[in-house]
Amino acid sequence: MEINYSEVGLQVGLEIHQQLDTSSKLFCRCPTKLFEGSEEDVAKVERYLRIARSETGEVDPAALYEYMKRRKIIYLVPKGHVCNVELDEEPPQELNKEALSIALGISMGFKSKIVDEVYVMRKIVVDGSNTTGFQRTAIIALGGELLDEEGAIRIQTICLEEDAARKVRDLSSSVVYNLDRLGIPLIEISTAPDMRSPEQVLRVASRIGLMLRLTGRVRRGLGTIRQDINVSIKGGAKIEIKGIQNLEIVDKVVRYEVMRQLNLLKIMNEAIMRGVKDEDIGSISDVTDVFKNCRSRLILSNLKEGNKVYACVLRRFKGLLNFEVQPGRRFGTELADYAREWGGITGIIHTDELPGYGIGVEEVRELYRVLNADGGEDVVVIVVGPEDKCVRAMSAVVGRVKEALRGVPKETRVVNDDGTTRYMRPQPGAARMYPETDIPPVRIDEGVIKEALKYVPRDPTAVYEELVSKYSLSPELSKQLLRSPHIIQFYDLLKEFSGSEITPQYIASLLTVQLKGLKSEGVPIENIGIEVLREILALVRDGRISKDGVIEVLREYALDPKKPIDDLIRKYVRRDLEETTKLIVNIVESNRDELIRKRDKAFNIVMGLAMKELRGRVDGKVVADLVRKVLNELLGSTPA
Ligand SMILES: [Zn+2]
Repeated sequence: MEINYSEVGLQVGLEIHQQLDTSSKLFCRCPTKLFEGSEEDVAKVERYLRIARSETGEVDPAALYEYMKRRKIIYLVPKGHVCNVELDEEPPQELNKEALSIALGISMGFKSKIVDEVYVMRKIVVDGSNTTGFQRTAIIALGGELLDEEGAIRIQTICLEEDAARKVRDLSSSVVYNLDRLGIPLIEISTAPDMRSPEQVLRVASRIGLMLRLTGRVRRGLGTIRQDINVSIKGGAKIEIKGIQNLEIVDKVVRYEVMRQLNLLKIMNEAIMRGVKDEDIGSISDVTDVFKNCRSRLILSNLKEGNKVYACVLRRFKGLLNFEVQPGRRFGTELADYAREWGGITGIIHTDELPGYGIGVEEVRELYRVLNADGGEDVVVIVVGPEDKCVRAMSAVVGRVKEALRGVPKETRVVNDDGTTRYMRPQPGAARMYPETDIPPVRIDEGVIKEALKYVPRDPTAVYEELVSKYSLSPELSKQLLRSPHIIQFYDLLKEFSGSEITPQYIASLLTVQLKGLKSEGVPIENIGIEVLREILALVRDGRISKDGVIEVLREYALDPKKPIDDLIRKYVRRDLEETTKLIVNIVESNRDELIRKRDKAFNIVMGLAMKELRGRVDGKVVADLVRKVLNELLGSTPA
């Protein structure tokens, strides 16, 4: 489906959350490193969600929704990563100044106006990811802009806030969070809904990500940057999509959301054309009797446990549940999301997909009969499970189908790995913030500003130009380096090794092409930190190993970071020229007859044998030159 995005009136806003690389958390002195040990050794705390009311006494709809799900929350409390502050058993300590300086520096990079005084606020959080029932957040800068080829993008607010606990498991009766992540400083950058095409969203998100990396003070790796986007089109709704961790799919997420909204509008138009009214979305009935003798294993096992089958007629909706709204997701899938989120029911079955699942023509006919439905026009949706769950699930489905008669419902959605999205919860109400009285406001004085200036990111365009003109990197390699997470490492290594045989091109290609190559082989390159790169490049500079050995040493290091570097390099210690020559002469001597016979292939044969011995110890080019020289002597002096 080719979509003209300006015609559909696309508007997209971004909200980027990035963890800052500080030595401790935002409101306590716990470290910002995540727990990596086994869950078995970790203490657990059980709680139930607190339902927070806003100042006016109104219960937030999203909070109510979570409350209705009545789930137990289990917190993992790993030692050394969590103190009483995260457990909400002690008041928060003062705002981390290091985090504030970094966040202010970033704000200056976006020309955002810094506030005079930072007030910490409480933002109601309803999913249990904060032990307090709220997240602490503070606006530190307002306004600002980001340049883009399709026009400037306005920055609305920049906030400094605490990260939430890390979700480990999500079961229907409980949810498990690890508290190690709770309290890690995050910067949140929110843009106005100024983006007009999926490509522009990708470009802007990449540029913000790059500016954050250019400070050198943000955490890297999966989960350290998360993006939310809001997407709206004419006639649709402003949909919030949460949890995009992979920046590279952000354009796809936008495309799929536009597609979804357009398809929901098509469903609405079709339903209107068919004359469907609210009262055509039927009431909920117990139809367990219809399935007494059916062959569906799913239904039979449920009936054995005393569970029920509930049904609802959607008059004149036939065929619409099979209508695809996103690749691999039908309108029926959207309804199933509601059944799952509200009723804890894993799925729905509807007559558009029957007979099937062991449900035969007879049951379908009987279903239509007892519900007084028309098999040619209507759809029947059924759910199976405990009575209360069925009723909750089916009520949610009925509510969602009624929304379909009005178009696109306002929802908060969450992204799937393939870029499609699923329903998460209704959009929260507006009154969700109130002051955090435990933390005094922080005045932004000259001292704070002076400290922040250290962290102002450079302009990405200027950095690109510098890579190309000053360091003679090709435009392609420069772009790769800027897209990679390693731009700051490039500058660090450059500073340390410039002037040696380790050229800027070599460092850039090592950090991009070569590391990527290792990654694609499944090598855990996240184990390769700046310290080990430094150590290994120093060995090259000092002539102890050859450049060709670097990637092999890094590979072995990444696979076993505990092994001493000296052991890793043993195989790659440089051979001197004399030794190398002797080895090549030996190879040529012992294969003399074959080489004379296969004259044309002689070079390849000798190179192959020589590199088997010398790979990583001598540069390939040096070996090639020597092989050519020795072969010339042999073949030149031998009568053909
Ligand atoms: Zn702590």
